[in-house]
Formats: sequence, C-alpha cells, structure tokens
Amino acid sequence: MVGLAKRHLENLRRREFVAGDALIDGRWIEGDHRDVVVDPATGDMIAEVARCGAADMNLAIDAAERSLAKWRELLPERRGEILRSWASLMLAYSEELAVLVTCEQGKPLAEARHEIGYGASFLQWFAAEGERAYGETIPSHKPGSVLQVRMQPIGVAAAITPWNFPVAMIARKAGAALAAGCPVVVKPAPETPLSALALARLAEEAGIPRGVFQVLVGDPIELSAPLLREPRVRALSFTGSTEVGQLLLEGAAQTVKKVSLELGGHAPFIVFDDVDLDKAVKGAMAAKFATSGQDCLAANRIYVQAGIYDAFIEKFAAAITRLKVGHGLEAATDIGPMTKSSVAAKCRAQIDDAAAKGARVVSAKQDQSFGPNFILPTLLSDVTDGMLISSEETFGPVAAVLPFDSEEEVLARANTSEMGLAAYVYTDSLRRALRLSENIEYGMVGVNTASFTGPPIPFGGWKQSGLGREGSRHGIQEYMELKYVCFGDL
Ligand code: NAD
Repeated sequence: MVGLAKRHLENLRRREFVAGDALIDGRWIEGDHRDVVVDPATGDMIAEVARCGAADMNLAIDAAERSLAKWRELLPERRGEILRSWASLMLAYSEELAVLVTCEQGKPLAEARHEIGYGASFLQWFAAEGERAYGETIPSHKPGSVLQVRMQPIGVAAAITPWNFPVAMIARKAGAALAAGCPVVVKPAPETPLSALALARLAEEAGIPRGVFQVLVGDPIELSAPLLREPRVRALSFTGSTEVGQLLLEGAAQTVKKVSLELGGHAPFIVFDDVDLDKAVKGAMAAKFATSGQDCLAANRIYVQAGIYDAFIEKFAAAITRLKVGHGLEAATDIGPMTKSSVAAKCRAQIDDAAAKGARVVSAKQDQSFGPNFILPTLLSDVTDGMLISSEETFGPVAAVLPFDSEEEVLARANTSEMGLAAYVYTDSLRRALRLSENIEYGMVGVNTASFTGPPIPFGGWKQSGLGREGSRHGIQEYMELKYVCFGDL
C-alpha cells in the first residue's frame, strides 16, 4: 500500500486537479511558507500547500466585503443556478474528489464517493431554498399600519471546517451561506486542505464571482484571529471539537457575531429486548463504524437490554471480525486509518482505561503492522459508567457496549451526557419509541434507523454539542438577519 496515494496524487496533478494553494480574491496565491499534507495510512508526504497568515486573511475579508453588495443583489434564482453548476461539477469530478479525500483523510474510497454526492446534495438543496427564504406579514396591532418581517443576508460569513468530512462540511456551510446572499471565507482543517482547494477550483469554474468563495489554509489560531476580531465578518460557522467551539464562541463575543457550532457527540444507541436482533446489529455496525468511527453521530454508548445482551454481543462481535482494515484506496477496505495520530492515541487510551477497569476486550488484539494511525475494530463489552469511554467522545472504531435493565434507567443514563447531538433507539413498541424520543435530550433521534442525515433535516445538537442548525430551512437562517418594518399612517 506504500506509495498508492502518491501515485494517485501524481495522476491528479498531471491533470491539474490539485491546484495546491489558497484562493484569495479570485487569485491563486503561492505562499513562501509551505505545510505538508500526509497520507494518514502511511505517513508519506503527499503534497505541500501554502501556509497563509493573518495578512492573507485580512485580504480575504476585504475581498469578501467588496463582493458582498453584488452577490446580495443577485436574484436568488441566479445564485441558485450558480450553486447547481457547482454541484454538477462536483458530481462530474466525483472520482477525482473522492480520491483526494481518501488520500488525505484516509476513509475508504466508497465512503469518499458517497461524501461527494452528499456534499453536492446540499448545494442543490440550498439553491432552491434560497428562493424560499422569505419573511412574513403580521396582522397588525395598530390601526392603519402594515407590519412586515424581512429576511436579509447577514453579510460576510466564515466557515471553519473539520477533517472528517472535508468536502461535505464545506458544501453544507457554503451552500447555505451563498444561497442566503453571503460571501464565505473557508478555513479548512490543515490535515485535509487538498479537497477544499479542489472545491474552490470547481467553484471558480461554476462562475462564483471573485471574493464570494475563498479558501485559506494555515495555522488555525493565526487564521481565525482576524475572522473573530473583524466586525465585518458577521457570521461564523464551525464544526469540530467542543473545546475549540468554546474558544471560538468566546472570541466571537468581541464583535457579537452570529455563531453556529456543530461540536462533539456521544450518541447513546439503545437496544430493547423486543427488537429483531439482526436489524439492531446492522444498525449498530452502521452507526459505529462509518467513517472508521470518526463521525460526530457515531454510536458511543451501545446500551443493550439484559435479556438479549449475550446474544447481541455474539452477533455484533461476529460482524466486527468481518470488517476489513486497510488503505482506503484498496477496494475491500471497510476501516481506514485515523486521520490524526492524536485521535488514534485517544482511542488506545480509552481501550486501556476500560480494560483496566474490568471491560472485556472481545475483538482481536491491536496489530502494529498496519501503522500507528490504525485502530483495529474493537468491541468492549461490560463497559460501566465510570470508564473514560462512557463520557469522553470516541472518535474511532471502538464499540462500547453497556447492559441495562429498564427503560427508566437507560433514559436517565443516556441523558447524563453533556453532549446532546444524536441518539438511536431500537424497539418494536411505538409507545416506547414515542416516550423515549420525547424525553431524550438530543437534537436528532433515529428510531429503528442508523441513517437519517441529508439536506432537508435540521442537523445540530443540544447542550454542549452545539448551537444552531445546518441543512433544512433552519440552516439558511444562520446566514440571515431578520428585519421588522412597520408602515404607519396608511
Ligand atoms: P479541532 O476542533 O481541533 O479541529 C476542527 C477545526 O478547528 C479544524 O479546522 C482546526 O484547524 C480548527 N481549529 C483547531 N484549533 C483551533 C483554534 N484554536 N482556533 C480556531 N480554529 C481551530 O478537532 P481535532 O483536534 O482535529 O479533533 C479532536 C476531537 O474533536 C475529535 O477526536 C472529535 O472528538 C472532535 N471532532 C468532532 C468533529 C465533528 O464532526 N463534530 C470533527 C472533528 C473533530
């Protein structure tokens, strides 16, 4: 597998698909300082990109501000056409984009292909939603007057995006911002700049005017400081860890920006003893091992009712052992490397802590031959609430299973988390499904399904999992201001 990503990258470079550097004010800049991009499976350097600094970010903010008036005044229908062209280009170059994602992020190529389609679907959906983002007329409380509510673009927006979905998270934020009439400046994760820069090339080709969509790669603190400080940046959207989200929220307070945050999760996945076991195991596999577990929706605490606990563990373990670990570019791979070594280290620490506190490590022992960023799919059974893995987000292919007895008990345990992004409930009882979905403190609940995301759904969390929503009609509101106008004496 050594050199596989390099060979693919060379091929893309020959076809000028990997532009390499930052897009600011319609120009591709080449910085003096370079950062390396590595294949997380092998540690090989696969590319270099310009390291932008605060001065570059200031130029980008100026350019975005200059582009605002024209973009805002464009008819929503025309903005929609441009977004649809961008989506079509993404789909036309889906294979090239998918290879880039796999090379720098590590996920299996089939998942990367799916991510490109998922990302493009947000551009298509918001292209139409921009035309529907209208206000209202309120029945007046004052004789002879008309009360109007208008929705208007908020201004320049900033997007700070993560490495686990390096294309889709940009498309989900930029689609909403651009449809609303706001230029957007993107700072992608330093681990995955190539797919962000490729998206910028396609944005240009789709006819997005200069300054309206810009991408700058570099040190996160240096690049985010001007975004936070600058009053002309009116909205900030972030996806990543709760710790960084808290810092950004604090920083954005300087200029009272509209902030939307999609942060960590710690999803409970609750399986009652009335379910079809095979369906529940299939759901748990999907909810735990997609994106090699590096997903904020990942099932972090799999609660299984006592009566079916042993049978569940047996079937779940059998399914886990069938997962194929390898380089994401190899056709049969289900589980790729962790994108960051710090994430792999966190998984190992959680496994060690659980084992030391009495959890049973059901799966095979870790195999070093795959390289330091790989975590082999691991099943921990008999996990208890006091173990690290029960409270700390697990961003990897490590499944923690905890037994429970009653509905009341499991609801209380599920709700103890300070995270509140996604929850899953598997039961055959409609009454129980209704009760639990009402009382569980999470922003998104899947009942008998592990798959519920997409452009029409309001994606976001309660408690420390975030603020605001992405996707859906709520997502576009993050980039709009509400204006109330009263016409008197008519
Ligand atoms: P992170 O929060 O550090 O990185 C996410 C984004 O924030 C990246 O673009 C990064 O460059 C930027 N960033 C980092 N520090 C910053 C700062 N001080 N100011 C401004 N921007 C900053 O996440 P991580 O360290 O890469 O991953 C750690 C954990 O975060 C993971 O194990 C996982 O639990 C969680 N995470 C969640 C998601 C999600 O989808 N919600 C995505 C990535 C990571």
